[in-house]
Amino acid sequence: MFDFTVIWKAFAEIPTAGALSVRLDFLKDHLQRAEARIKELEAENASLTKQLHEANKEAVTNPVSQELVKHAGALWERLPTGGYADYPMCPHCRVTMSSFQNVIPFRCHKCRYLTNFNGRELVGVRSKLPS
Ligand SMILES: [Zn+2]
Repeated sequence: MFDFTVIWKAFAEIPTAGALSVRLDFLKDHLQRAEARIKELEAENASLTKQLHEANKEAVTNPVSQELVKHAGALWERLPTGGYADYPMCPHCRVTMSSFQNVIPFRCHKCRYLTNFNGRELVGVRSKLPS
């Protein structure tokens, strides 16, 4: 005897137009909320990017004059004991930069900013720092 329950179950798993319509409405609603959230986040990101750009610009043009001096496209940290730190800092990230083999210009490892002087020229550049 043939078991019709197998066929009945197979038909039961086929969604009806009404069920599909409900799912479609749910997905449309979810998509609209996601698109609205994306627009909010894009606007927030643009605002934060603008703020960061202005803060970086201000940091470069107005370094903390008591502690940092801008010279030769880099920042130089004043030491409390007088003089300056041995190596320049990135004007954007404020991290110490290095000059590979003293031949490659000083480079920021974070943003890859390059100065126009290398380790061999460091003594000459440092000598022109204000006292
Ligand atoms: Zn940097």
